[in-house]
Amino acid sequence: MESTTKKCFVCQRETYKDNSELNLDVNLPVCTNCKGTKMEKEKVLELLDSLADGFVCGCI
Ligand SMILES: [Zn+2]
Repeated sequence: MESTTKKCFVCQRETYKDNSELNLDVNLPVCTNCKGTKMEKEKVLELLDSLADGFVCGCI
């Protein structure tokens, strides 16, 4: 369990309390470099898409 080390879900760099925020759409930490960028939005859509796919697969 690596609950103490969190990574920015956009750039995969380690984040710390003072240089990151929680993205409430996906409930994952995002560093201040990526916060509010186009990349962040694309990654959010990607993650939400893959979650949706998982639900679709359960219907078979
Ligand atoms: Zn980042």
